[in-house]
Amino acid sequence: AKNPMRVLVTGAAGQIGYALVPMIARGVMLGPDQPVILHMLDIEPAAEALNGVKMELVDAAFPLLKGVVATSDVVEACKDVNIAVMVGGFPRKEGMERKDVMSKNVSIYKAQASALEKHAAPNCKVLVVANPANTNALILKEFAPSIPEKNITCLTRLDHNRALGQISERLKVHVSDVKNAIIWGNHSSTQYPDVNHATVASNSGEKPVREIVADDNWLNSEFITTVQQRGAAIIKARKLSSALSAASSACDHIRDWVLGTPKGTWVSMGVHSDGSYGIQKGLIYSFPVTCENGEWSIVQGLKIDEFSRAKMDATAKELVEEKSLAYSCLN
Ligand code: NDP
Repeated sequence: AKNPMRVLVTGAAGQIGYALVPMIARGVMLGPDQPVILHMLDIEPAAEALNGVKMELVDAAFPLLKGVVATSDVVEACKDVNIAVMVGGFPRKEGMERKDVMSKNVSIYKAQASALEKHAAPNCKVLVVANPANTNALILKEFAPSIPEKNITCLTRLDHNRALGQISERLKVHVSDVKNAIIWGNHSSTQYPDVNHATVASNSGEKPVREIVADDNWLNSEFITTVQQRGAAIIKARKLSSALSAASSACDHIRDWVLGTPKGTWVSMGVHSDGSYGIQKGLIYSFPVTCENGEWSIVQGLKIDEFSRAKMDATAKELVEEKSLAYSCLN
């Protein structure tokens, strides 16, 4: 039998956490033969609720779940973890400026960077979910210099999956027949959902989405805004932000990273830019990636038209601005 892997979830008493921890305990994230020990961190005021989640995990009697640590102590939470899913953060409340949220969250990520650096297992893989996700991940990377930069990522898989979902709804095909959409850039409304390289599987092989949809007008406008604004649409409908889809796509992100992407398929991940596609080196930017042997690599050589170029640059520009705002908050 495999040794258990330790998986940290921060903000575990929150609504994404509540959807995420049972998925991890069921093997959705790391596979049906991989035992796990869950480390759940939340802040002191949420300690009682967190303990309630722990009670439910015990009650669910998950065969793969070999242990649960529920704590408000960052050091205890980070100890020897192999995977860290960072969901904890201040939500943007009514009347709060972007800078206020940024300031609260970047100082949390700076502190957690040090804890992970000192206490996590070597080669720990980190996924940042809490917003501003790319910039929180950037701060984490910069304040945990001994963690390899390729180990620190942020979640854009939900946006990626939303793009696949919209194409599948439009074409009335199964979502598993649609692949290779791309989310470029920031996990924010400036993200660029790109289907120029996406395909749909049919009896006669894979066809380009553009050809099958045959409506450039829709693909270049409504499709993009629907994906960009899907989060807001969920809030309007549920009076709460998306949680089950966020949790599910966090599992997809880690699973593909650890176990690999299927041949011929890429996914979107927010990763350290090496300058590919002219994106400023060092930014945490969402790219198309394939994964093998626990490592991601950016898909190279895709043709970028002028329309895409402008949108990829606009979202990069926002990330550069967020980066300087983050640093001004820390000073
Ligand atoms: P959620 O579980 O709903 O969301 C957690 C974070 O994920 C938020 O920052 C949210 O950003 C972000 N997020 C990223 N992508 C998405 C997405 N697609 N859909 C929805 N959310 C997304 O928040 P809760 O308030 O329920 O839970 C947060 C937990 O964090 C609480 O348990 C709280 O106690 C804890 N916390 C921990 C802190 C710390 O570690 N020091 C500090 C503050 C809180 P957005 O707000 O923009 O939706």
